[in-house]
Amino acid sequence: MSATETPVRELGHWIGGQWTEVGETFDDLDPFTGEIVARVAAAGRGEAKEAIDAAAGAFAAWSQTPPAERQGVFLKAADLLEARGDDVVSWLARETGSTFGFGMFQLHFVAGLFRQAAALAYAPIGQIIPSDVGAFSMGLRRPVGVVGAIAPWNAALILSARSIASPLALGNTVVLKPSELSPYIGGLVWGEIFAEAGLPAGVLNIVTHAPGSAGEIGDELVENPAVRRINFTGSTAVGRKLAEAAGRNLKRVVLELGGYNPLIVLADADLEFAVNASAFGAYLHQGQICMSARRIIVERPIAEEFTQRLAEKTKGLKAGDPKEHDTIIGPLINESALEMVKSRVDEAVSKGAKVLAGGDGSGSVYNATLLTDVAEDSDFARNETFGPVAAIEVVDNANEAVERANATSYGLASGIITSDADRGLELAQRIQAGIVHINDQPVGDEPQMPFGGVKDSGWGRFGGTAAVEEFTELHWITVGKPHPFPF
Ligand code: NAP
Repeated sequence: MSATETPVRELGHWIGGQWTEVGETFDDLDPFTGEIVARVAAAGRGEAKEAIDAAAGAFAAWSQTPPAERQGVFLKAADLLEARGDDVVSWLARETGSTFGFGMFQLHFVAGLFRQAAALAYAPIGQIIPSDVGAFSMGLRRPVGVVGAIAPWNAALILSARSIASPLALGNTVVLKPSELSPYIGGLVWGEIFAEAGLPAGVLNIVTHAPGSAGEIGDELVENPAVRRINFTGSTAVGRKLAEAAGRNLKRVVLELGGYNPLIVLADADLEFAVNASAFGAYLHQGQICMSARRIIVERPIAEEFTQRLAEKTKGLKAGDPKEHDTIIGPLINESALEMVKSRVDEAVSKGAKVLAGGDGSGSVYNATLLTDVAEDSDFARNETFGPVAAIEVVDNANEAVERANATSYGLASGIITSDADRGLELAQRIQAGIVHINDQPVGDEPQMPFGGVKDSGWGRFGGTAAVEEFTELHWITVGKPHPFPF
């Protein structure tokens, strides 16, 4: 199977190093045109169990595979991904509505992620701990076994790759459940690439499912005793359910959840930079990024000019077909996402919000929208709105800005734009978020960074050495501990 064919493809699951019979399928749709881009196998709990069995069977050998071999697989996967770059970016547009710029960003990020995972194969796996009884005492990190990975559609390439890369590089085996909205480019593509890169059969398994079946696949991953860890990237609502189920099964889970991310613009900011950074942070990938800037909190002395310039900039962002390379705002992922964004804006307006730009759309596209005067009790002010909508809030000083930034149940990403880095650093430490960028907007990631949130944005970290803590088990082993009792 190759990703270079464009006619409608039929895609089976990737289990135990084989493509399964396609069997019952569901339609995988282009969110901009509504066309079918693939017909994809629809798993139930049985296929999820088969995938887990395959992963469990492959664990003993893979966990003992020398680091050089694990490293080699990831280096090759990075090269293979880059070699198919055009095709991958085209699939991102067709399956998820990703614009060319965001598609290219995802492509290069993931190549880097795999090269970083290659280095992880050589991460130190333990420590020697001094013993008071003369034992040679070690804390040894070992792979945990089968890891269940549940990924969303929004940055499909990055988030599915992130969910499998460090667990695999550290010697675990994986069952990936992609979103039904990105089954190929957020899932099955990794079966193709890692098979060619030489990953042994059963080490990575991928099961796709029809709309409405995510729950049963998730239940199997949480309840099957062979699965020892779960990582979940998605909404806070689903993450909360999963955490409850994982708790009942005493299973550790990494939760990368939603955000309601503040961007503070202080009065000493470079205005041109602040306007451009705000537009980028709010509207990249039509605001369908967990880190998107939703609230732009501006100090009063620059508020009027900043607002007017950002509104102009927002009105000028080209919306439409994501396959045209200069499109900035592509489609929302589906009809229900579009309806949710519209209803949040309409409700905010009914409660007094002013629309400074956008507030309308065409077909599956909703234009970049800038609001102000959003009432505290509106749905927009209380929840993450996953679309191209941001709101400006004006404050009197930096302390009030921090208070406003923290006035949310979420705590994922944030930004502070100021020309005084010391002041930025002092404020950053008071912001309740897993990630704070000084002199930048909230959207940003690098594979080796400890990415993750606090409060309702989840717990646990992907990235670099933080992943070692998440996807290995710490064993205490002693040698030669003298017996203390005269027995
Ligand atoms: P979602 O509905 O929670 O879905 C995420 C994943 O969970 C998908 O694979 C989904 O499958 C699956 N799922 C749904 N119900 C499930 C269940 N009962 N058991 C197990 N899995 C289940 O999230 P989304 O709306 O697709 O994604 C957007 C959300 O993700 C936003 O809130 C965004 O902020 C958040 N996000 C967070 C991060 C981060 O790193 N913190 C990154 C990206 C996105 P189906 O899609 O097939 O239903």
